[in-house]
Amino acid sequence: MLSNSLVELDRKHLIHPVSSFRGHEARGVRVLRSAKGAQVTDAEGHTLIDGFAGLWCVNAGYGHESIVAAAADQMRKLPYATGYFDLGAEAPIRLAAELAERSPGDLDHIYFTLGGSDAVDSTIRFVRYYWHARGEPQRDQFISVEQGYHGSTSAGAGLTALPGFHEGFGIPYSWQHKISSHYVYRNPVGPEPQAIIDASVAELRAKVAEIGEERVAAFYLEPIQGSGGVLVPPTGWVKAMRDVCSELGILFIADEVITGFGRTGPLFACEEEGIVPDLMTTAKGLTSGYVPMGAVFMREHVYQTIADGAGAKAVGHGFTYSAHPVSAAVALEVLALYEGGLLENGRTMGARLMEGLRSLADHPLVGDVRGRGMLAAVELVSDKAARTPLPASLQPATRLFDRAWDAGLIVRSFPQGIFGYAPPLCCTADEIDQIVERTRTVLDQTLQDP
Ligand code: PMP
Repeated sequence: MLSNSLVELDRKHLIHPVSSFRGHEARGVRVLRSAKGAQVTDAEGHTLIDGFAGLWCVNAGYGHESIVAAAADQMRKLPYATGYFDLGAEAPIRLAAELAERSPGDLDHIYFTLGGSDAVDSTIRFVRYYWHARGEPQRDQFISVEQGYHGSTSAGAGLTALPGFHEGFGIPYSWQHKISSHYVYRNPVGPEPQAIIDASVAELRAKVAEIGEERVAAFYLEPIQGSGGVLVPPTGWVKAMRDVCSELGILFIADEVITGFGRTGPLFACEEEGIVPDLMTTAKGLTSGYVPMGAVFMREHVYQTIADGAGAKAVGHGFTYSAHPVSAAVALEVLALYEGGLLENGRTMGARLMEGLRSLADHPLVGDVRGRGMLAAVELVSDKAARTPLPASLQPATRLFDRAWDAGLIVRSFPQGIFGYAPPLCCTADEIDQIVERTRTVLDQTLQDP
């Protein structure tokens, strides 16, 4: 069979570092053949609902002819133009203007990257240029949040606080610091929102004092932590952190690589938090996964400071594929789709998804249901009252993923026993209901046969 030979070739030649370096050798990779809307078909011809939009990215859904046409037109017309020097092309210029118009506040200056990790790395460079320009080069210390994910490049991985991203690399670097994520499921502070906010504010202040107020360059957060297991802070938490940064004169950076582009309801999650970060990173939903692209958004005061500081000198930072015309043409079309009904459908379906998943809360294996919009998680436990995690022997990341797959559903199955959901925003009501029902099937099955 075609898929068997592909699995063999994959075993021999393709590296899949994440999860387990040899995991794909033992299990064999699952090969996808085609997709349409929210449904994917594997090499054997089985159709499944993609409850995770690829990797939280195919927000518009698969198989949009208008996106394909936008890419093909651009490839024919001008497949490449460097944005490295003072050169450009129409599509990225138009895209930057469209994004600036829709971004919160005066986040009006855009730098395009290839994805999220290099967007985060770019902000580290820009922040350092900013403080040099301000005459405070000693501000070179960065703070982020435990359970956060900010990419796989070395600097981004140092801001990341998930197991497996640090060992053996000498990261986090000495200039990278973390504060606790006080809104995790097993949180010693308890569930009271104000207590969580107060604990985080106190810890951020204490961390800044420990490092030295005049040394801290920037603070990073995700409005909802995605790869940490879809951890949702209480309303007001993001604003409280923004306020501390404003008061202490620290740059505040929102990493919206997952939450951006309609994932939680609005175009950017910061909008519903009522805040404007100094810099914002995005990727994934920007091109809906059809082609790679990320974008750093920069506020007016940050841009002007860096520009004034640099004067006629170059600011040494750039990628060959930054502002790629084909990616930009795709992003322009994806943006038109968001505004042509996709955001609205995502909001309606997000409410339906949350309601459906909450109906699973009584299940003996469900400890927690959380999320916002089309970004959700169900945390499984073996004892509800004690919040006891599923036993590692159950191998949640692989066994539960396989069971969901067999039930016709792709979810992210985190090793801690968390199902993560990020369906395409184009899902129909029936597909959302199927996501919930197929999850119930897996839960029932796991209860009977752990
Ligand atoms: N930041 C966040 C919040 C992310 O979720 C991710 C990817 N999951 C990244 C950065 C890195 O993005 P990429 O994988 O496109 O490099």
